[in-house]
Amino acid sequence: MCGIVAYLGDKQAEGILVEGLKRLEYRGYDSSGAAVCNADGQLNLVRSVGRISNLAEKLDKGHLSGTAGIAHTRWATHGAPVEKNAHPHLDHTGKIAVVHNGIIENFGSLKKWLISKGATFHSDTDTEVIPNLISHFYHKEGQFESGTTNAKKLEMATRLALTELVGTYGITVICSESPDMIIAARKGSPLVLGVGDGEYIISSDAAAIVNHTSRAIYLGDNEMAVVTRDGYITSTIDNIPVASKVEKIEYTLDEIELANYKHYMEKEIFEQPDKIRACLSGRIDLNEGSIKLGGVMDHARELVQARKLNITACGTAWHAGLVAEYIMEELAMLPTEVDYASEFRYRNPIIDQNTLQVVISQSGETIDTLAALREAKNRGALCIGVVNAVGSTIARETDCGVYLHVGPEIGVASTKAFTGQVTVLTMLALFIARRRHMSQQKLHTYLDALNRIPDQMAKILEQNDYIRQTVEPYCDKENWLFLGRGYQFPVALEGALKLKEISYIHAEGMPAAEMKHGPIALITKEMPVVFIVPKCSQYDKIVSNMEEVRARGGRILAVATEGDEDIKKYAEHVFYVPDTLEELQPLLTVLPLQMLAYHAAVIRGHDVDKPRNLAKSVTVE
Ligand code: GLU
Repeated sequence: MCGIVAYLGDKQAEGILVEGLKRLEYRGYDSSGAAVCNADGQLNLVRSVGRISNLAEKLDKGHLSGTAGIAHTRWATHGAPVEKNAHPHLDHTGKIAVVHNGIIENFGSLKKWLISKGATFHSDTDTEVIPNLISHFYHKEGQFESGTTNAKKLEMATRLALTELVGTYGITVICSESPDMIIAARKGSPLVLGVGDGEYIISSDAAAIVNHTSRAIYLGDNEMAVVTRDGYITSTIDNIPVASKVEKIEYTLDEIELANYKHYMEKEIFEQPDKIRACLSGRIDLNEGSIKLGGVMDHARELVQARKLNITACGTAWHAGLVAEYIMEELAMLPTEVDYASEFRYRNPIIDQNTLQVVISQSGETIDTLAALREAKNRGALCIGVVNAVGSTIARETDCGVYLHVGPEIGVASTKAFTGQVTVLTMLALFIARRRHMSQQKLHTYLDALNRIPDQMAKILEQNDYIRQTVEPYCDKENWLFLGRGYQFPVALEGALKLKEISYIHAEGMPAAEMKHGPIALITKEMPVVFIVPKCSQYDKIVSNMEEVRARGGRILAVATEGDEDIKKYAEHVFYVPDTLEELQPLLTVLPLQMLAYHAAVIRGHDVDKPRNLAKSVTVE
């Protein structure tokens, strides 16, 4: 949530900042702004409500000149998305500008105190206390020895200010009195420092950097980078030097371009065959009949000896976790519990040395999941990350893990990350199962079925036009139900979430059998009901639930197994998926639901990649 970009180099900053913001727009898009220091040491600022294109238009009328600047695309937490609340925010002297991702929880008391010291405020944000607090220390009589340079004063004042903050932040700071310096610091919210040839780009994620350089430093939590034209220094916020490693950004510009697609979500739905193939590649060996997960290999013994598995995640990743609950218990015979990450640490979870903690997060920055990870770690669990973004905070803080390798996901509504997560969790279950009890022969059956999934996905995607035509007449219906049993229950939840997120249609997912305990009262011909009913152990029971809906005039759409002609007796429309093992069915049945939600949103005229009120990578609690 929220995108930060900052630039210091030999080129004009403005174009680079705006281009960077466009690449980060999926992280927040209610307002944006930039501040650039020019050669005369003036700090100029432009802010605008709405999309980055509005900011770009405003900049066309009078641009920001200078080679050092900071910029932001906002996802509002405190204060409405109006211009005065857009970042950057200035201190009351107008010299220091800050952009911020996160929430300052004690901003109320700090603001009161700063006002008592003479500061003035112009926004409703929590952020505005940061430049004013830095300014307070920067200007404070006797704070620094005489002869201290402005640059050193700014650095020290920033450190002092940050120690006063309670909450989370990723910030960049620029000051007109040190125009050749940018400070970046983080606690909870991500920041990456791209190291180019004589230039530096700081960003919330690598998407705004890859165009300029593939070398980057992923700032650790509680770390700060002081970037000048002569280089950069990294340290902790309380000034202990940190030897940061320059890493290679794993993906290329091509992977974050739209290519011929209209939306990132569409692109990412259609990438799934290739991306799941990439996720499986080098990990399943059909000849040897083995699973190789390099990221957890060193902990194989703990995995085999585990007595319990806790899974924590949010949103779509939580649904992937629910699928994994069924798979882990069935294949690995490992008792598994799935928690919302945001609830986990507010309970008193029972963890011992035989408990494994799996944390799932596409971005690896989801703050609730990160907090749950830290809680589990403190309680002694071995923590395993299932993460897409390489080098992200969760990836670094877990003891071991398995990356999805599905490439950057930019569409706010997650698609390929879900199937990537389920694929990785299935491989993890098989990795444990084979070491605990599963025969070589049985493992081979699963590997073979997994290996066929990418081609089977490609076949489902061929129904794209049919799904669009089918969904069209239902697009004016404001309430939908998604029902499934067993492995299809989490898929029902995911189908409903997709529809809610981008179509703004109210949808509920639930176990098919639960319908008769209440929601059946809602069934009328105005309510489409989607049954996920592949050939599985509970097939007959789901068909009975379909009968119950039909008897009450409900309109039924079904996702079923190819060749199941009988299902047409119960459903008005059927989307077919190829046959596979029951445990793997979610990898296929979710695809028609992703396409259904995508088309419903487009038909209803929504911007699929920028859904109302949402943003990618939830870095606030
Ligand atoms: N809390 C800040 C605000 O509401 C920052 C939000 C963000 O991360 O975009 O302006």
